[in-house]
Amino acid sequence: MIDRYSRQIIFPGIGEEGQRKLSNSYAIIIGCGALGTIMATSLVRAGVGKVRIIDRDFIEYHNLQRQVLFDEDDIKNQLPKAIAAEQHLKKVNSSIEIEGIVADVNYTNIERFVHDADVILDGLDNFETRLLINDASLKQDIPWVYGGAISSFGMTMTIIPHETPCFRCFAPSPTGRGIIQTCDTAGVISPIPFIIGSLQTAEAMKILVGSGDINREIITIDVWKGTCHRLKIIPRRDCPTCQGKYEFLEGEFGLRTTSLCGQNAVQVLSPEAKHISLEELAAHLKPVAQATYNEFMLRFTVDDHEMVVFPDGRAILRNTTDESLARGLYAKYIGT
Ligand SMILES: [Zn+2]
Repeated sequence: MIDRYSRQIIFPGIGEEGQRKLSNSYAIIIGCGALGTIMATSLVRAGVGKVRIIDRDFIEYHNLQRQVLFDEDDIKNQLPKAIAAEQHLKKVNSSIEIEGIVADVNYTNIERFVHDADVILDGLDNFETRLLINDASLKQDIPWVYGGAISSFGMTMTIIPHETPCFRCFAPSPTGRGIIQTCDTAGVISPIPFIIGSLQTAEAMKILVGSGDINREIITIDVWKGTCHRLKIIPRRDCPTCQGKYEFLEGEFGLRTTSLCGQNAVQVLSPEAKHISLEELAAHLKPVAQATYNEFMLRFTVDDHEMVVFPDGRAILRNTTDESLARGLYAKYIGT
């Protein structure tokens, strides 16, 4: 065991005591795209005792350019990202606990997912869920590390509940100001998520080991311009989350059909929690479509749209950003 981690135990910031703390720690990664795969592989290799990876999506060819944990076989085997990540990482380090969960993180389930974690890492693609993590973090007193990357630009910020400014002090609303660019419209090159994900991992390691200086500012990096800046965040006196008003956690913004970042696709959530038998659904769809399925997801094409259905009742409709069309097709083929 010592041999596996010898090079980071020699590092003074960790040492034997730090390594013990890492092995007794529990990190949760929400979102397993480019940032998530970098953070997951680093934390698993570092020997964090328990790593939970939650992601709602499956793998496509355009992910392979930057999402380091996945390969072509995962696509052929129709694996969701969380399952593929778990399978690959278990081969990297069998001495720790690794758990992949296929789910959409929202206000109905986030507290259950994170409640006993020591740190939460953000691998998401949207501000709404980040504000939800922020609420859960402050309410449950769990540090979290924000990270975002798009085009050649990225940023990260560490939130220590009730000590540093929170994420909502920085981004008061999920829509923000003006147009929010996505990986769909602006693209992304792999060096930027690799750097941001690595900075996030270092922050998580410092939090778990309890040594080193936590980053208390926003760090922004542009790998194409070769620039790096630090911005100080001023705590907002009118920040609802800092005042203990957890609006996102209380579901005030509801559960919505959402367009997915980086894809021409829409996610439809089941109106209520349910378990769908993919085998039964395939049989039910037989007159209209040829469905393929495994234990993790079912895929079929109808009216020029590909729909992927998960056992928790969620579906992702591809080749559209039309949310009402997605809800309509969901009602028609999967039922409500
Ligand atoms: Zn705040």
